[in-house]
Amino acid sequence: MSNYHIKHLEEYYQVYRKSVREPENFWEEIAGEHFLWRKKWDKVLEWDFTKPEVKWFQGAKLNITENCIDRHLATRGDQTAILFEPNDPKEGAEHITYRQLYHRVNKFANVLKEQGVKKGDRVCIYVPMIPELAISVLACARIGAIHSVVFAGFSATALATRINDSDCKMVITSDGSYRGAKTIDLKGIVDEALENTPGVETVLVAKRINSDIKMKEGRDKWLQPFLDKASDQCKAEIMDAEDPLFILYTSGSTGKPKGMVHTIAGYMVYTAYTFKNAFQYKENDVYWCTADIGWITGHSYIVYGPLANGATSVMFEGVPSYPDFGRFWDIVEKHKVSQFYTAPTAIRALAKQGVELVEKYDLSSLKVLGSVGEPINEEAWHWYNDNVGKGKSPIIDSWWQTETGGIMITPIPYVTPTKPTYATLPFIGIQPCLMDENGEELKGNQVEGRLCIKFPWPSIARTIWGNHQRYKDTYFSTYENKYFTGDGSLRDEVGYYRITGRVDDVIIVSGHNLGTAPIEDAINEHPAVSESAIVGFPHDVKGSALYGYITLKDVGESRNHDNLRKEINQLISDRIGPIAKLNKIQFTDGLPKTRSGKIMRRILRKIAEKETSNLGDISTLLNPEVVQNIMDNAL
Ligand code: ATP
Ligand code: MG
Repeated sequence: MSNYHIKHLEEYYQVYRKSVREPENFWEEIAGEHFLWRKKWDKVLEWDFTKPEVKWFQGAKLNITENCIDRHLATRGDQTAILFEPNDPKEGAEHITYRQLYHRVNKFANVLKEQGVKKGDRVCIYVPMIPELAISVLACARIGAIHSVVFAGFSATALATRINDSDCKMVITSDGSYRGAKTIDLKGIVDEALENTPGVETVLVAKRINSDIKMKEGRDKWLQPFLDKASDQCKAEIMDAEDPLFILYTSGSTGKPKGMVHTIAGYMVYTAYTFKNAFQYKENDVYWCTADIGWITGHSYIVYGPLANGATSVMFEGVPSYPDFGRFWDIVEKHKVSQFYTAPTAIRALAKQGVELVEKYDLSSLKVLGSVGEPINEEAWHWYNDNVGKGKSPIIDSWWQTETGGIMITPIPYVTPTKPTYATLPFIGIQPCLMDENGEELKGNQVEGRLCIKFPWPSIARTIWGNHQRYKDTYFSTYENKYFTGDGSLRDEVGYYRITGRVDDVIIVSGHNLGTAPIEDAINEHPAVSESAIVGFPHDVKGSALYGYITLKDVGESRNHDNLRKEINQLISDRIGPIAKLNKIQFTDGLPKTRSGKIMRRILRKIAEKETSNLGDISTLLNPEVVQNIMDNAL
């Protein structure tokens, strides 16, 4: 019997070594012991990174929803599967048991069929964080349709591009959505997008805000009447292991988003196994990931990973600031959350508010804290560790990507000793390596280079929808026979990895390669600083010099900016060296971010280079309004 839960560091190394020495035997054991297969595989793994092509569990037959729902009915039918916490706390939480989820997914699946959706069809899901989002995802999987969830905060243009790119024939949406004190006319955005999407035949509309919306005759249909009539039994479509499960577009931090395609069996096995171990999920725990299901984090660690383990997964509709900045902690207390998984951007925003709002609540149920999406800077790490975790809940700084499907580098809580700003050790089965600029692998420890993965893991994306060449060019052409992540990393003296930022963002100052994360980390140590982003700009002597954009904690406070600049540069000098001192420091009220909350250095770089005529599409930003302000005050 393989161990599904890793319990101590020695065991981690033991299991890790096995997973690397005999990957096929290792994953075959995990897959064989913990899942429901309609037919077992003929071959565990076939791969060739030069094509590139990866196939796991070929020949196997299964349906992922039988693994996420049906097989739990006998043992945990009455246990909460999805714990829905609405935007307005007064509305009250909704507990959806595994049995109720089973019936609701089946009904939805029958409606999809009735509306002409077939196996292999693409369905675009543009639904806010309400139960229908998770249910529609699972309903697609039930009948073998490929879901493409688009985050319901995207604009009409962004939505239309994604619908057309994967040629979706149906869109599922809602009349509107709540976001803090605001309501959003989601259906209006869909109508606008659909002016330019010839392939869409049907729009199913869930009711959420009861607004009076326009319904287009023949195309738009209210969901509820169909659900009411539908049978709550729907036979699961038996799928091939390598059939596509979903398409999901990357966040778009570095350019045009890529429609990553994930296939069923490998994705299921890896997300389930990582969920159990990276969060040390135990029976009766209540797990909460604050991401939106519109991102990969939500796909893998709100829906599929937790449900495959029979877990209770919290789904939160609202925002951290509504009704006030204590909302996250209120939810943790109310539902006795044991694992809490969020992003550095949220942690920094909450840390800015002071600790009173955290201390108001009983957070003693917490056992594990997680971070994902960006490097977490040391100051935010300590704030999270001290005030939320009270020093007793390990923080897992988990590094991974839309493309990787699951967590790749992470501490295992209570197993791997943590270290601020370090994602620490590769997860079981993951073989990272660091490459230098000449394409040579950097051996040994205390090295820094470009992060690649040498060997396939079960949930690696198989292609970019409709553009296999782009898939090959982006990930497999930089280094021979390796998956290139696009991120830079260092490996310390004990083999821990620290992500230093995106390789595209590396700045070469007087011949030295400087990653963004360590410098921003040093800047953020200054007590007055909330967030920072650095980019390069052309410099006669150094080649490039550093330009820092910095937001301060107390907006409106009149501290002497020149003194602050000196103090910040002194900090950088002490921490990293004089080479990393900033030539220009601009204080600003906000930094441009993606909708998933990541800093978009690409735009800041153009401003620093004074190339503002071609900033590209900034309408997909979370806060496009900050861009003009930054440009107006650029140095
Ligand atoms: P695009 O690929 O379209 O530019 P994106 O890279 O932001 O967008 P995602 O797949 O959502 O899209 O994000 C993955 C990236 O997020 C990683 O490549 C890395 O740069 C960053 N990241 C995620 N988790 C961490 C982490 N724990 N530490 C540091 N960086 C992280
Ligand atoms: Mg990326």
